[in-house]
Amino acid sequence: MQIIERIHEMRSWSETQRCQGRRLVLVPTMGFLHEGHLSLVCDARKRGDQVVVSIFVNPAQFAPQEDFAAYPRDFERDRQLLQKERVDVLFHPSVDEIYPEGYQTQIKVERLSVPLCGVVRPGHFRGVATVVAKLLNIVRPHVAVFGRKDYQQLQVIRRLVADLNYDIEIVGHPTVREADGLALSSRNVYLNAEGRKAALCLSRSLGLAESLARQGEKRGKAIVDAVQAEIGKEPLAKMEYVILCDPETLQEVDRIDQDAVLALAVSIGKARLIDNTVIKP
Ligand code: AMP
Repeated sequence: MQIIERIHEMRSWSETQRCQGRRLVLVPTMGFLHEGHLSLVCDARKRGDQVVVSIFVNPAQFAPQEDFAAYPRDFERDRQLLQKERVDVLFHPSVDEIYPEGYQTQIKVERLSVPLCGVVRPGHFRGVATVVAKLLNIVRPHVAVFGRKDYQQLQVIRRLVADLNYDIEIVGHPTVREADGLALSSRNVYLNAEGRKAALCLSRSLGLAESLARQGEKRGKAIVDAVQAEIGKEPLAKMEYVILCDPETLQEVDRIDQDAVLALAVSIGKARLIDNTVIKP
């Protein structure tokens, strides 16, 4: 596995591969890898000839009071995991490489960035869209793989790629969970033993919503109320939002006549956790 830190080297590697007719697949990450990330890498492997994983903790998507400095990092462990997965290139640029002196361009995906996480994290998706647009231009993959766990992020990226005419296929990979249902996340390290148990209220409440829908419940409010009540039973959980929305526009829906996404954000101690599921009519 080659480790590349400089943009010009990444571009020239990519150019060489493209000239040789290889199909390149990119998996962007912020590192501190877990089985969810590795599952994206396996998926990537099946979709092309060469797999590039980027590790870049993007300061532009963290607000000043958020956890950029504290965000967990372990480059050596990540390197070993990716080597085992037979990743071809680990792209690991510095902050100065991505945002050099004088940098001033940002990409804003207008409407999709506003609801859900955008309410408490204004500016977050602008940071995400900007860095992803840059990574796609630097690595020039044919395919890029993202997790559906970050559902709003995936929709923002799909929109960005369509609107700016990137000739890149965007893949949304299913959420990888622990055996007990907790969605894997680098931020799960912020949970202590008690918090780890409390965090199960996210997947449990999503399961409850799915089963209500299976029993024929079509009223959005009934489903959202039930989910909120379930989370409300957990004293350590601080609910940020529970929203039933259209899978593409992310606008709230009040009836389930087509597929809808139930998305939620809950804080447990310092860990802000998000999760979602598709609710079928
Ligand atoms: P992150 O390092 O948190 O920025 O995540 C990098 C990529 O991995 C994003 O596309 C995430 O959506 C995806 N990802 C994170 N956690 C999971 C998970 N539990 N299952 C599937 N994909 C995930």
